[in-house]
Amino acid sequence: MLIDTHAHLNLNAFKDDADEVIRRALQKNTWMINVGADFKSSRRALDYANKYERGVFAAVGLHPMHLFKFNAKTDEYDFTTRGEEFNYDAYEQLAKFSKVVAVGEVGLDFYHMDIGVAKDKIMKLQKDILWQQLLLARRLDLPLILHSRKSYDCLVELIRRFKKEHRDLMPKNKSWGVVHCFEGNEDEAWQFFNLGLIISFTGLITFSKRFNDLIRRLPNDKFMIETDCPFLAPEPCRGQRNEPLFVKHIAERIAEIKNLSLEQIAEITTQNARKFFNI
Ligand SMILES: [Zn+2]
Repeated sequence: MLIDTHAHLNLNAFKDDADEVIRRALQKNTWMINVGADFKSSRRALDYANKYERGVFAAVGLHPMHLFKFNAKTDEYDFTTRGEEFNYDAYEQLAKFSKVVAVGEVGLDFYHMDIGVAKDKIMKLQKDILWQQLLLARRLDLPLILHSRKSYDCLVELIRRFKKEHRDLMPKNKSWGVVHCFEGNEDEAWQFFNLGLIISFTGLITFSKRFNDLIRRLPNDKFMIETDCPFLAPEPCRGQRNEPLFVKHIAERIAEIKNLSLEQIAEITTQNARKFFNI
């Protein structure tokens, strides 16, 4: 069994065949967490989770890129963001459904800064909204799925401050957040571990060798795996639309680097995900 801890079957790329893709994954014993990026996709993630008796869960949250309206374009994607105003009560209502197992994805994204808004203003709003969603997650005792691009230092600083101010809300001896699609170095990974967070790997590790040393030395209880589909298809599926079944290739790559069997990595990552999301 495998768990894709970060999928987006709730996005338009799957609007015609999400159910087919979900069934295909479940048949091969692959579970998934569909992750929201704004209110609409969060609600859709919950709808899919409610539709299946087991193996499909949801995370709800407002992604930092959706705070401003602009055209987001890279080699991996091309879409227009919403410019959504964060509504704490509305997200709280969604987050209370039993199939919602995390708040996410939330965080900081300092990659798209050329959007006709002052840089200070973008960063300030992103930090404010992240803070509110950290509060939401901790008050409901839900784990966090954190997105961070070009912003690891700032994220670490903000989380340190949050932990200091809200010591009463912090869990003891339990991982309370995951830095998804980890793309940093070993120092950065350990900074996150020291804050009580874990990390998760996407297809990035199948086409870049720069994570090998980190993965080789990584303690078994500090990582999960994900596809981030429809984006970031792993080798040997580069160029295709990504989907939860492909999470197997990420597990295979980790097994190869750690010199363990695929079954062992499947067991380790599944246990980590079940414990983290309480599923
Ligand atoms: Zn994502």
